[in-house]
Amino acid sequence: MTIMHEEDAVTVTDIKQWGYCKRVVYYQRCLPDIRPTTYLMRHGRQQHEDQPRHAVRRVLPAQDVASGSREFAVRYFSAELGISGMVDEIIRADDGSIIPVDYKNASTVANNHKLQLTAYGLLIEAKEQVVVNVGYIYLIPKRKMVRIAITDTLKTTVREIISSIFTMIDQEWMPPLPENTNLCVGCEFRRFCNDIG
Ligand code: SF4
Repeated sequence: MTIMHEEDAVTVTDIKQWGYCKRVVYYQRCLPDIRPTTYLMRHGRQQHEDQPRHAVRRVLPAQDVASGSREFAVRYFSAELGISGMVDEIIRADDGSIIPVDYKNASTVANNHKLQLTAYGLLIEAKEQVVVNVGYIYLIPKRKMVRIAITDTLKTTVREIISSIFTMIDQEWMPPLPENTNLCVGCEFRRFCNDIG
């Protein structure tokens, strides 16, 4: 998938949401005017925005980086991948490797967090000509860095998700409910999903 303009790209946030509930991405992409903003979303965003100034006090993950530097809120776009996104933090190790770090207002790592981190890894690979096989998720409430292997399997899964999202947008196809409708409790789009039992 090659696209011409960044505004046509699937975002890394779309990829994360796809791993949570495909229909959320449908609402945001095909019916963008209906998105509500809840207090919890705003609160979470503020905590997220406060993180860079905390992050500079954290030590580098010694397992992967002997020495290096940090950059925050790094934006990437790849026309070839058809995606764009802003990584919370990248660590540029002095050996030339680059490690993405994503901040999460969560106490555990979920699968869709790994998909998001993998998408950042693919963007870094595309734009920086390095191989990215590891990243970190920083769990804000626990102040804990969790090491994530960015495997070939995860990369393939993310490429398939990107393709599926473009197909959904082209066909304006509304995905089915997720298998676990417990996810729907508290969902900002709950009032639009009238087929939940
Ligand atoms: S209410 Fe449930 S099915 Fe509807 S968008 Fe939210 S999580 Fe998905």
